[in-house]
Amino acid sequence: MSPASDKIVARTLHHRAATLSPGEPLAPPIVPASLYCLPGQPQAPHQYGRWSNPTWGALEEALAALEGAEVAIFPSGMAAIASALMTQLSPGDRVLIPSDGYYTTRALAEKYLAKAGIHIELCRTTEYAARDLSGFKLIYAETPSNPGLDICDLTDLIRRAKAAGALVVVDNTTMTPLGQRPLELGADIVVASDTKALNGHSDVLLGHVASRDSALIQAVRDWRTLMGAIPGPFEAWLVHRGLDSFEVRFERMCATARILAERLAGHRAVSSVRYPGLESHPGHDTARQQMIRFGTVVGVTLASAAAADQFISEARYVLPATSFGGTHTSAERRARWGDQVAEGYVRLSVGCEPAEALWSDLAQALGSLAE
Ligand SMILES: *Cc1c(COP(=O)(O)O)cnc(C)c1O
Repeated sequence: MSPASDKIVARTLHHRAATLSPGEPLAPPIVPASLYCLPGQPQAPHQYGRWSNPTWGALEEALAALEGAEVAIFPSGMAAIASALMTQLSPGDRVLIPSDGYYTTRALAEKYLAKAGIHIELCRTTEYAARDLSGFKLIYAETPSNPGLDICDLTDLIRRAKAAGALVVVDNTTMTPLGQRPLELGADIVVASDTKALNGHSDVLLGHVASRDSALIQAVRDWRTLMGAIPGPFEAWLVHRGLDSFEVRFERMCATARILAERLAGHRAVSSVRYPGLESHPGHDTARQQMIRFGTVVGVTLASAAAADQFISEARYVLPATSFGGTHTSAERRARWGDQVAEGYVRLSVGCEPAEALWSDLAQALGSLAE
């Protein structure tokens, strides 16, 4: 990591230090409160469980240190994404959404935003560069896209969106704030699923919205209060705990992902490999400009659906599961969901296993395909 990132990580780990008094636990307490003592004029810092919670507060402060921005947490990545879209868009507005990004975001837009009179336009991530942005209220980007790992140039996109008077929202789930920092490139809002690498232990769903504009964060907080889409205190605590080891896990996972991507690309049973850190990736130059790390997800195309299924079942250290970012390596064949990828495309989520143990396992599984 760069010295700037190192400071961010250290600050995030120590975010509670300044407010700790003798005898207080270093870890934030889990506060499962719906009611708070509230005599007289309601002035207490916490008043009712849907409005605020001290354990949410601890996680929001930690994430704020990590993002370098204000943060509101949500019970899932989708709740965070919905809050950002619903609070910023009005009937008649036009919004640009990636056609090859996270499927559920598109489904949310098509099912609910369209009904509210918002015009949805779709664009491939690689075609954002050529798209005329005039007349849009909001440009929503996801880079690298999930699952195809395509890349768009955020600096260029944000410059053109600003010129057109549009807000830019970036889904930074696949990269996390340690892998890519869209707010520093000028994005208005970052949305993310912390269900993935940030929590990283495959045991909780949570999401957040980050922005340097207080009014935007206040709007999503109001949305959260009024819709009642609030995280549980235990879930917030789990993510706070996961965050303590996030950088160590993320560094290991990104380093291993790169090693595996290189070796997979050279294996005869592999048709192609998609990884932003490889020179063969068409967006590699842009990736080098805007990404701090190249991520934990590797796209591996095998000869057929059957080969992909066999590869996943033969590998001992690869759990068959959807999602990514966990400590345990997992994989799935994405076409099983109808994604616009090759039948044999495997999204490999690289975990924390030592690289050589993982590679010998993957090589063994690939060897079984050639026979
Ligand atoms: C998983 C994911 C989401 C949704 O997150 P949940 O926590 O499952 O609601 C959104 N965007 C991307 C890119 C994701 O991978």
